[in-house]
Amino acid sequence: MARILITSGPTRQYLDPVRYLTNASSGRMGRALVEAAQSLGHDVILVTGPVDIDYPSETKIIEVISTEEMLAASREAFAECDGMIGAAAPCDYRPVRVEPHKIAKTGEPISLNLIETDDIVATLAEQKGSKWVVGFALETEDHRLRALAKLERKSCDLMVLNGPEAMHSLDNQVEVLNRAGEVIGSFEGSKEHVAVGIFEVISRQLLSASAS
Ligand code: C5P
Repeated sequence: MARILITSGPTRQYLDPVRYLTNASSGRMGRALVEAAQSLGHDVILVTGPVDIDYPSETKIIEVISTEEMLAASREAFAECDGMIGAAAPCDYRPVRVEPHKIAKTGEPISLNLIETDDIVATLAEQKGSKWVVGFALETEDHRLRALAKLERKSCDLMVLNGPEAMHSLDNQVEVLNRAGEVIGSFEGSKEHVAVGIFEVISRQLLSASAS
């Protein structure tokens, strides 16, 4: 049995008290991964952004809003875990300045000055030691090439590659890539079915020493 951190859902970066930037993510893939992990007897800590779905009631859930909060919560949780799965879609940009009051319309265009947020998977994987990290890559072109580049850049052990059809869908179609760029798993169907397949690969490749 392992203790696993799963990040799930989108994050929000507020521009002012009512407007925010976000990513399209329902949290359904994250929920399916939580269920698959729990059905194998693993202990899950879930760090999630705002979603409209319910996660299994026995899950330890840490709710966050922004990417900075998700990073802080994930860093703390990862210290207690054997590995992590980054299934969240954290917002990659934040405004340089957050206005304290609602930005009033003037009839003129406005420009947003944005900077990149920290990458949670890359930050945690950088200092993972003997822990393992699985990332997700959602690509619209050069799928495997980009996913492999991401796996290397973010120091992941495995990368799950899916297409944009996965967003807000009940189904998914994924390939799991290892560090050599080989496709070591390919799953299609409901997100629940795909999550079970992903865990078969994780169990085989990353948990073989500790999995029951
Ligand atoms: O670079 P991209 O966002 O496509 O990478 C996707 C992977 O990186 C996912 O595993 C996602 O959870 C993770 N990620 C992250 N922090 C970010 C952006 C992405 O952990 N700020």
